[in-house]
Amino acid sequence: MTNPSLAQLQQSIQRLLGTEQPCTCGRTHAVPIRQVLVEQGAIEQVPEVLARLGLAGQCLLVADPTTYEVAGGQVRSVIEQDGRSVDTLVLPPTAEQQHLEATDEAAEEVRRQASGTDHLIAVGSGTINDIVKLAATRLHIPYVAVATAPSMTGYSSALAAVLSGGIKQALPAQPPVAIVADLEILAAAPSIMIAAGVGDLISRSLSSADWQMSSLLVGTYFCQVPVSVIAEADEDCRDHVAQIGQADPEAIAVLTAGLILAGMSITMAQTSSPGSGGGHLISHYWDMTAPARGRQQALHGCQVAVGDLVCFTLYERLRLCLDEADVDQVIANRPDGDEISAVVVGHFAPLIGRGPTVSLATVAAEKHGNDEGLYRRLEVITEDSGAFWAQLDPLLTPSTEARRLLRAAGVPTTIKQLDVAPDELINAFRYARYIRGRYTVLDLAYDLGLLEELQDEVLSNSGVLL
Ligand SMILES: [Zn+2]
Ligand SMILES: [Zn+2]
Repeated sequence: MTNPSLAQLQQSIQRLLGTEQPCTCGRTHAVPIRQVLVEQGAIEQVPEVLARLGLAGQCLLVADPTTYEVAGGQVRSVIEQDGRSVDTLVLPPTAEQQHLEATDEAAEEVRRQASGTDHLIAVGSGTINDIVKLAATRLHIPYVAVATAPSMTGYSSALAAVLSGGIKQALPAQPPVAIVADLEILAAAPSIMIAAGVGDLISRSLSSADWQMSSLLVGTYFCQVPVSVIAEADEDCRDHVAQIGQADPEAIAVLTAGLILAGMSITMAQTSSPGSGGGHLISHYWDMTAPARGRQQALHGCQVAVGDLVCFTLYERLRLCLDEADVDQVIANRPDGDEISAVVVGHFAPLIGRGPTVSLATVAAEKHGNDEGLYRRLEVITEDSGAFWAQLDPLLTPSTEARRLLRAAGVPTTIKQLDVAPDELINAFRYARYIRGRYTVLDLAYDLGLLEELQDEVLSNSGVLL
């Protein structure tokens, strides 16, 4: 008998495929993905999927050496057995990389190799998917994603997370026309990749809270519809963390369907906000600074999990002192935009080079804004902090509960497990907020003049230093 959560998730996915729903938020929530298969032996159905979607002509299959071995060869042979021709591009890591990484250069390489191709098939997980998604977008051709691990929400999102010009960016990109997730392959994925998927999915709680807060304080766009979609995915995953940690095939199916649904909510929102808050900024910071620190990047979802524990703990600490905020004092002590730019350049230039730093400094100064902007943000809280928390509470997870769930699924909860040094954690806590215009709990703490003051206590209480 099919697991009821899985049946429900599959139904929610099917209901959203190919839809365009105008919403009271002013945006149309569209999901251009037309087919999603999450089942045993799904790879056998790839030719059928291509036929049903009318994908004919020249096809290029893109994989890395590992994902080609895991599934690429099998995909290739089922397509060839169907009488279709398929070219293959196996992307190796560059000389500096231990594993292939999602970079603009890799996407350009695929774009070059794919000229004259009618559609692409991405066989892999986060890295391959991001690379092919960006290449397909630039080529204006469709692509099919064949998943090899339930490791992130990116299969179905309209964003490609790539390192571009030294900065980790989420570039707008077209999602695949179809996602094929063969449970035999996904359940056999390395346990750390499965754990990363749980980390990325459970992070929605923090991301949605940050998104809601940003709309309350900064007036950014917000809509409850994508939040509800991603919440369903997250809740089902939470109910199955222990079984996911044991790679139980049904639980892996729940996780996979949940990740696909979560990515769809990002596509619907036309912004990564429902699935990317302060913990994501911390993860992006570690990705960007890894080369300068001579460290290999850990998996996105694992870094996000640790970053989220820090951010949940920060929310809890701020709750205790928000009412005491002295707005006049905070504004009197506030640096101006030029000082912020100098801080950003001083910190980032030695780590990522001067060129990329300049664009970060611009984003940071803009986010910093003027005194009036800060006054308005803080006024929302000081006028009625009860109402402020009432909006965030349904979204926030207690840090102790988040830690319990992550550990049950085998997700790293300390920086040691990520090979991140304590000073890199402190720097991420202080500087990650400068790499995006997005307003998160890290910004709230900074706005209140408390980010540095609370640093040691929050990092220690978050448990990530253990
Ligand atoms: Zn809406
Ligand atoms: Zn993510």
